[in-house]
Amino acid sequence: MEKLSDEFRFSDIEENLKVIGENIADAAVKSGRSEKDVHLMAVTKTVNAIRINHAIDCGVNLIGENRVQEFLGKEADLHLENCNAHLIGHLQSNKVKQIIGKVDVIQSVDTLSIANEIGKRAVNGGLNQKILLEVNVGNEDSKFGFNLDEVEERCAEIAEIEGISVCGLMCVAPICDDKAALIKIFQNMYNKFIDIDGQKMDNVSMSILSMGMSGDYEQAILGGANLVRVGSAIFGPRIYRDKH
Ligand SMILES: *Cc1c(COP(=O)(O)O)cnc(C)c1O
Repeated sequence: MEKLSDEFRFSDIEENLKVIGENIADAAVKSGRSEKDVHLMAVTKTVNAIRINHAIDCGVNLIGENRVQEFLGKEADLHLENCNAHLIGHLQSNKVKQIIGKVDVIQSVDTLSIANEIGKRAVNGGLNQKILLEVNVGNEDSKFGFNLDEVEERCAEIAEIEGISVCGLMCVAPICDDKAALIKIFQNMYNKFIDIDGQKMDNVSMSILSMGMSGDYEQAILGGANLVRVGSAIFGPRIYRDKH
């Protein structure tokens, strides 16, 4: 049964990727850039390895997982030879040592203490871990991340930590039906990204601005995103199986 539904969804994944690629290209051009300037991440939480590998076969070269355990459970079955993986979900400090060095970038660094833990474990492992700072751009109680007005200061502190490199910012925008207002929110992130870049801090390179999901990736690109994280628009609605 599982096999059959996987096969059935394969054509959908390919078609979805094609449409999203066109939408990304259009939005990139509208924002004065080219489609090559915007990187598509396929968000693979709850998606099984067969379907993820199919997306990789269709040209996906970056995947994002929310949970350390889920990623490590699937990793051996994934064809990651030409595909990078990032962690995009809230990270608990007791999981840090399991994920260090296993993903190219940890996008969801939301406190100074988690950054310290990542640095410590990276140094212990003899490696450098790339991170992004997560920003709670809508100041929502329900979301993780630094506030927009504190992220520059926190970035300066985190940049001092050995074993990590700060490579940019990420956010999950508030739900907002007003598209113009949404673009404005993304532009606030972009402006902060440019401000921090202008500070030329040691150990900080503002190269990745990760924002936009299935419902808002076009607005995110119009606001300046250069990496969009798209899940359900590629793989269909998520089916959460209760495994706990
Ligand atoms: C799930 C998730 C996404 C993708 O969400 P979709 O709406 O399915 O595209 C992007 N970013 C983060 C942090 C997520 O948790």
